[in-house]
Amino acid sequence: MGSKYILHKINILKVIYEKGRISRKKLHEFLDIRFATITEIVKELKKEGIIKEVGREKNQKSGRPCSLLSIIPDSKFFIGCELTPYNIISVVLNFNGSIVEKVKLNINLNDEKEKLQREIIKVLSNLINKVEKNKIYGIGFVDPGIVDIENGISLFSSIMPKWKDVHIKRHIEENLSIETFVIGSSQAKVLSEKFFGKGKKFKNFIFVEYGDGISCGVISDDKVIHGVGGVAGEFGHIKIIGRNEICKCGKKGCLESIASIPGILNNIKRKTGEILNINLVLEKYKSGDLEIKKNISEIFEIFAVSISNLINLFNPEMIIFDKNFQIFNDFFDLIFEKIKANMVYNYPVKFEISHFGEEIGAIGGACLSMSKFLKLDI
Ligand SMILES: [Zn+2]
Repeated sequence: MGSKYILHKINILKVIYEKGRISRKKLHEFLDIRFATITEIVKELKKEGIIKEVGREKNQKSGRPCSLLSIIPDSKFFIGCELTPYNIISVVLNFNGSIVEKVKLNINLNDEKEKLQREIIKVLSNLINKVEKNKIYGIGFVDPGIVDIENGISLFSSIMPKWKDVHIKRHIEENLSIETFVIGSSQAKVLSEKFFGKGKKFKNFIFVEYGDGISCGVISDDKVIHGVGGVAGEFGHIKIIGRNEICKCGKKGCLESIASIPGILNNIKRKTGEILNINLVLEKYKSGDLEIKKNISEIFEIFAVSISNLINLFNPEMIIFDKNFQIFNDFFDLIFEKIKANMVYNYPVKFEISHFGEEIGAIGGACLSMSKFLKLDI
């Protein structure tokens, strides 16, 4: 089997995936591959159990019905595994983006890297045992820090100090014999949105991660921006002049140290001496508590201006905020107005809230594995 034939096969599968359902004739027109070759490859893919016939459509010219082809959702499985400071979350995803299985294990972020590596293998083995192993294509490992994507090495993480210089790709492959790919956390999350979330139909959008930290993943001209260390989008560490909050990264005045949930709570504690949770802070803001109102308004302003800076830099069609951002529901109009007021030109950028929960990173890892299978250029 020549390499050209394999390339044709991949392209046919890619187009069937992208179109959802398509006839052999349309594949022939679309890909400019000989009809006989299309027929042969389709037969092979059907025999392998990857695609199936799903009804018919009328041929526009001849009026004759021709059958449509579609990928069988559970014919291949893709694994995503995210290491976070709190847990390891791993999922098996099918072609439709449905979670077939999930395993989660709580961890201690100060554990030695050897222990964490053992726990990652434990979680993955547990997960793999739940599905047919021969259907698994690959594993996308989602790292909490800076990664060498090419060689699959976790280099350094500001939030997990002992997680450094880990040959995680090699470790997983040696233990489980499944090809493994490595990606940064924000890049994985924006991939989830691109494949199965609100970013599906968009070529330029940004996912803003929000919660304990702040970060972002950028899709520009339909591709993920990784950067040289796989950490493009460290939006939480842009500096705010005139602020002295100390960040987890060791520097002062980072957006994350001011506007993340812990950032907000620390700020209120410093200014009022009160230890409150975020809902209480927002309640007090609404009821007109002067000190809280002053501080929160300032933080909203800093956050909104930072988002406008992002928009001015990348000109996205849409910003998708993390699901955690929902806590500011009552203040969306206020925040979005402030963002728009600082945009260099006022175009109708969309603001959306992600529908993904805690699996968003792991799903992104699985999407990475799927993109490698389909040879998608992402
Ligand atoms: Zn920082």
